[in-house]
Amino acid sequence: VKVSLWGTRGSLPSFGPENLRFGGNTSCVAVEGADGTMLVLDAGTGIRRLGHDLGHRFHRIDVLLTHLHMDHLQGLGFFGPLFESDLEVHVWGPARLEESLNARLARYLSPPLFPLRLREIPAHLHCHTVPRGTFTIGGLVITTDLVCHPGLTVGYRIREGDRVLTYLPDHEPALGEPSFPGDPQWTSGYALAQGADLLLHDSQYSPAQYRERAGWGHSAIDDALKFASLAGVRRLVTFHHDPGNDDDTIDRLLDEAVRAVRPTCTVVPGHEGDTFEV
Ligand SMILES: [Zn+2]
Ligand SMILES: [Zn+2]
Repeated sequence: VKVSLWGTRGSLPSFGPENLRFGGNTSCVAVEGADGTMLVLDAGTGIRRLGHDLGHRFHRIDVLLTHLHMDHLQGLGFFGPLFESDLEVHVWGPARLEESLNARLARYLSPPLFPLRLREIPAHLHCHTVPRGTFTIGGLVITTDLVCHPGLTVGYRIREGDRVLTYLPDHEPALGEPSFPGDPQWTSGYALAQGADLLLHDSQYSPAQYRERAGWGHSAIDDALKFASLAGVRRLVTFHHDPGNDDDTIDRLLDEAVRAVRPTCTVVPGHEGDTFEV
C-alpha cells in the first residue's frame, strides 16, 4: 500500500510559521491499495486537501474513522468527493447499540454546527458500524479492536498480502501501568500492532506534559517508542503532535526520546505531506 499523511496534528488545527514542517492539519491519512482501493483514515482537517488531490480517480472511497472527536471528524463536511453525485462514499466508525453511526455523525453534520444535513449530501453515502474483528475492503484485510482512549475508539490493522500497516492515532497504552510496558497480552493495541511493517502512533506529549495530562487519552513520545518496540514493529511514524509543540520542539522531544528509550524499530517523525510504501 501507499500511505500518505494529510494531517498529523492532534486535538486542534494549528497553523503558523512555527509549524510549517510538521503542518497544522488534524488527523487524516490516505491508504491506496495495489488494486486501486482507496481508504481514508480519519476525517480531520487534512481531508479537505486530500479530497482535492483525489479528483475523479476513484468511484468508491472508504473513510475509516477511529472515533468521533472533532479533530478526526471536522474535515468531513469539506471532503470534495461527498459533493460528487456519481461517487460512492462509505464511512465506517464506532457506534453504540442505542445510537447508529449515522445518528452520531449527524450531531455534527447538521445545523447549527454545519449548514447541510447528512441526508442532503449529493454522493451515495453509506454509513457502517465498524465491525470488531476482521473484514475486507477490496484487496485490503482490515482488523479492528477497541483501544485505550476516552469514548468509543478503535484502532486499525490493514494488511495487503504479507504487509501490515497499523493506525493508532489516539492511544494511551501506558494508562494505569506504572511499569509500562508490561505484559504484551494485557497491553492496549498490542494485537493490532504486533509485527507491523509501519505503525502510525500517537506521540503527542513530552514526558513532562504527559505527567500533567495522564488519562487524557494520549501518549508521551517515549511511551510510543516503548510500545512500538514491545510490538516488534519495523518502522514507527510519530503522529498526532500536540498543537502547542512547534517544529523545533517536536524534533528535540523525538531526539531525547530516542536517546532515552533506544527503540528496536526505525523511528520517523510524521510530517504532513510525507508518503511511505508498505
Ligand atoms: Zn485526536
Ligand atoms: Zn481523540
